[in-house]
Amino acid sequence: MTEPPRPPESVPATPAPAVPAVLVQTAQQLRDAALAGTGAFDLVRSLTTEVGPRLAGSPGDAAAVRWGAETMRALGFANVRAEPVKVPHWKRGAETGEILTPYPQAVVLSALGGSPATPVAGLEGAVLEVESLAAMEALAKEAVAGKIVFYSPKMQRANDGSGYGAVVRIRGEGVIKAAEKGAIAVLIRSVSTANNRLPHTGSARTLAGLPPIPCAALSVPDADLLQRQIASGQPLRFRLRLDTQLLPDGDSANVIGEVPGREKPDEVVLLGCHLDSWELGAGAEDDAAGCAVVLETGRRLLALKERPRRTVRVVLFANEEFGLSGARAYAEAHGAEIAKHSLAAESDLGSGRILRFSSRVRAEALPWIEGLSGLLQPLGVERRGNDARGGADLMPLAAAGVPLADLDPDATKYFDVHHSANDTLDKVDAKGLDQAVAAHLVLALLAAEAPMAFGPVDPPERSRR
Ligand SMILES: [Zn+2]
Repeated sequence: MTEPPRPPESVPATPAPAVPAVLVQTAQQLRDAALAGTGAFDLVRSLTTEVGPRLAGSPGDAAAVRWGAETMRALGFANVRAEPVKVPHWKRGAETGEILTPYPQAVVLSALGGSPATPVAGLEGAVLEVESLAAMEALAKEAVAGKIVFYSPKMQRANDGSGYGAVVRIRGEGVIKAAEKGAIAVLIRSVSTANNRLPHTGSARTLAGLPPIPCAALSVPDADLLQRQIASGQPLRFRLRLDTQLLPDGDSANVIGEVPGREKPDEVVLLGCHLDSWELGAGAEDDAAGCAVVLETGRRLLALKERPRRTVRVVLFANEEFGLSGARAYAEAHGAEIAKHSLAAESDLGSGRILRFSSRVRAEALPWIEGLSGLLQPLGVERRGNDARGGADLMPLAAAGVPLADLDPDATKYFDVHHSANDTLDKVDAKGLDQAVAAHLVLALLAAEAPMAFGPVDPPERSRR
């Protein structure tokens, strides 16, 4: 398949109007006031303390929906509503793993989201280490059949989180590919940069459906242990026991609130995050932090004497983690007004300071975007290209040609805690959140006030996060 053409990146011959001085001033005031301190950390504290874990379909998820609507009302948002979303409901139970030979030891692991249960007594087999998806593809069926496949590649640390994309496909596709060749179970090295003994879960669900065989993530040190025992050259046998349950679909909701536009209320600048989380931790970094940033941004826009021209809509998406149900439900419910979405951005990479800004707008709007970028510079935000991809919850909108912006935070430490029991409030960077709010205020205000349309644009390649 050929890549869709990218919007041109050069500045067009007809310059767009410069950002008016009065707007520059408002943006600077909003930005600098946010840097001095915001309520964003308190919002993360509230969600993680009063709700905590919120896996799709669980009681915590329902409590989060109530929290989202109540919080939006308390912050002064208009048109607050919870739009219903059906979500899959999967539940974790007891989970154990042990090396039986050559050197018996118990290990620490956690089921991947969607994994079926093993037999009650557990499942036992020889372990086959596989270093990549490509290596799995190259293996003959006979080499895989009846084995427990162990995917061992390590995630690399990077401030843009790029190490995640390099290995995360193993979590979904790797399980399917192993099952296709007759594997009886899959173990993966946790997709994480941590070196503590906590496993990092994540969805093994793919477009093709739920994983057909039991699958679990080993803590990083336990993945190292398996590799060392395998390197001894002796056969490694393993016993896995997972007591998971797939329950009937549950009810959740996209929670939505607005800063109504003063001139073009039907045109929407969307700021998103996801309200659900994995249940091992409190979902503080993933993604209470992102929700706090977009909620606090909305609160500050609501406090302006003169509201922005377009509507700024804050969307707390349902079930990002286990199948993007909220993203799909939003695109369906708002199909008729997708063309009215002027710009969309999602905050879903933790509480670090924003380091980079990318856009995806039509060429005519680029001079305005450069003006916007100039206002981000004092925050230390580097201007990147016109090739933004948007967050996972924006995929349906992005595919429909909605213009996008990415404000990418420093993700150096994010994958130490992501999807693990360690994703708790103490990991959240309050100052990072304030700076992110400052950056989102500049983005939302300038997008909502732009004198030209940003789209339509060519959609990005399908992205995963
Ligand atoms: Zn997330």
